[in-house]
Amino acid sequence: MTLNFVHTICPYCGTGCGIDLIVKDGKIAGVEPVKFHPVNEGKLCIKGRYCFEFVHSEDRLKKPLIKKNGEFHETSWNAVLSVIVKRIKEYGDEIGFLASAKCTNEENYVLQKFARVSGTNNVDHCARLCHAPTVVGLGEAFGSGAMTNSIEDLEESKCILIIGSNTFEQHPLIARRILKAKEKDAKIIVIDPRKTHTAKFADVFLQIYPGTNVAVLNGIMNVILREKLYDEEFVEKRTRGFEEFAGPIEKYTPEFVSKICGVEPELIEKAARIYAESEKSAIVYCMGVTQFSHGSDSVKACCNLALLTGNVGRPGTGVNPLRGQNNVQGACDMGALPNVFPGYQKVTDEKARKKFEEAWSCELSGEAGLTVTEMIDEAGKSIKFLYIMGENPVISDPDVSHVEKCLRKLDFLVVQDIFLSDTAKFADVVLPACCWAEKDGTFTNTERRVQLIRKAVEPPGEALPDWKIVSMIAKELGLSGFDYSCAEDVFNEIRTVMPQYAGITYRRLGLRGIQWPCPAEDHPGTQILHTEKFATPDGLGRFTAVEFRESAEKPDDEYPFILTTGRIVFHYHTGTMTRRSEHLAGEVNECFVEMNPEDARRLGVGQGDCVKVKSRRGEIFARVRLGDIKRGVVFIPFHFAESPANRLTLCALDERSKIPELKVCTVKIENLKVEQKWQ
Ligand code: SF4
Repeated sequence: MTLNFVHTICPYCGTGCGIDLIVKDGKIAGVEPVKFHPVNEGKLCIKGRYCFEFVHSEDRLKKPLIKKNGEFHETSWNAVLSVIVKRIKEYGDEIGFLASAKCTNEENYVLQKFARVSGTNNVDHCARLCHAPTVVGLGEAFGSGAMTNSIEDLEESKCILIIGSNTFEQHPLIARRILKAKEKDAKIIVIDPRKTHTAKFADVFLQIYPGTNVAVLNGIMNVILREKLYDEEFVEKRTRGFEEFAGPIEKYTPEFVSKICGVEPELIEKAARIYAESEKSAIVYCMGVTQFSHGSDSVKACCNLALLTGNVGRPGTGVNPLRGQNNVQGACDMGALPNVFPGYQKVTDEKARKKFEEAWSCELSGEAGLTVTEMIDEAGKSIKFLYIMGENPVISDPDVSHVEKCLRKLDFLVVQDIFLSDTAKFADVVLPACCWAEKDGTFTNTERRVQLIRKAVEPPGEALPDWKIVSMIAKELGLSGFDYSCAEDVFNEIRTVMPQYAGITYRRLGLRGIQWPCPAEDHPGTQILHTEKFATPDGLGRFTAVEFRESAEKPDDEYPFILTTGRIVFHYHTGTMTRRSEHLAGEVNECFVEMNPEDARRLGVGQGDCVKVKSRRGEIFARVRLGDIKRGVVFIPFHFAESPANRLTLCALDERSKIPELKVCTVKIENLKVEQKWQ
């Protein structure tokens, strides 16, 4: 028997916990947390504990597949490459690429480079659906769209304001740091429509209506301004735009805001005083802030609050977006976005464009490309060929009936994945990829920590790392600059074009990783951003006046409930990995709709009853789960393909970031009265 321990990183959430995979005779037999890892300190959540269980699934993709007469047939790499290359030549720039927050930095870098060298900036990924407003809002306010502080640093906080994040379920090892801060007497404020596991630990809980974040944050700032609790010195020396911002805040009195968000004025005042008067206050947020048609405004309101009270650039403070997927930060850093090259260098900036033209020996387009949702909408029109690497929009995107309709309109769809996902079923060609345990590379976690992942086992059949597949296609097309021999080769190129990663090498990453910016090889990396000045052109933080706007759909007689969607602790995203884990699927394996007990009683339904949930776009079945959720609001997790919550959601977009409003739509609920099987 051979036994190995391979140090790598958990493939699920953006926390980026260090793990050792236990490999027995070439198969993963278990996992251990890394004891001295800076993120998880020897602990794992339940997803991490069973993160390896899908790896050796029988139904992993093992050979390339090509569809003929509606049926998939196995084929060779040579045959499939020539089909893809022929089609790419046919469609010119009528092509779109979806990169992936599950894949490594190296893979995202190679895919976006391939897209751009081929002549298009139509490259995007699922950050569009989770943290695009973070890139816009934080970018405008602070000059950098990344978490300002560090996970460990949260322990220093005296007040942690958690808004739109069920941290205890979605980022359990970050929640552990919040609990440690609480043990040291930090006050916890939670703002959420549901009394989540996180809210149960709050000293102050503001149970708002979905979509009213801007109003409640403006209400808190109204109290801080009125009671002169703000940091005048910080505002004067380190910010600009205060006057323009403060004027509109006057009308957001706690009484006015209370009518919008459904929270007593006294609670808003209490939260404001605790946040402003604590010595070090941190804001933690997630998709309950971003996934709205006003998501960028909500992020800017968080930034305004931190600037107003001088809570940026010091330990225990900051504005801290918790990234969802394991490598969503890295995929953004790598330029898997339609408007920026790697390192957030704008495609419209001539200097940046010239730099990349020189680096990649090609001519590049100076026009921003299409986003995920725009590429889907344009299918069959300006997008004839879509190349999807490791994403599953048929489950993850809003209004999936629309997504399915659009995918059918494509002339050619390539999906590169580890399983025949619901999206792959629509493809003309499916390419078998390695999962995280079968390849080397790097992930960048939510606190900007770049970390090595290492190959532990051989991939099944003929599956290959994503960077290798894309490079093979590029070379087959005759493009130069794709002669990489390994992932480290790709990383060494990334370092030369991205100042934030310039000082990072595989050798330096070791077991702890390095937090960017790391401009030189003798630089230790950066735990806290904006300590002396902001990353804006003038070094000042920027206030922006943001007004409350209602969500696109409002409850009415026909659709009286507000639906909000999200995740549960046992599953990840579209469930392709977690639902193949015996232990995780054993915990929860069917869709549910969480309802307020009073609403359920009115409808005549109880715990475990089957109901039909219907919106203007579609309907699904789910089982009732009674919970502490605001009356008139229901919650459905989006992991379950047989009851996809996103059949109900709508595609109203935030104008700036183009994120869809996944967190608010209206639905009706029908009592089926009879037990109905829907699986
Ligand atoms: Fe994995 Fe996230 Fe859990 Fe850590 S907190 S073990 S990264 S799922």
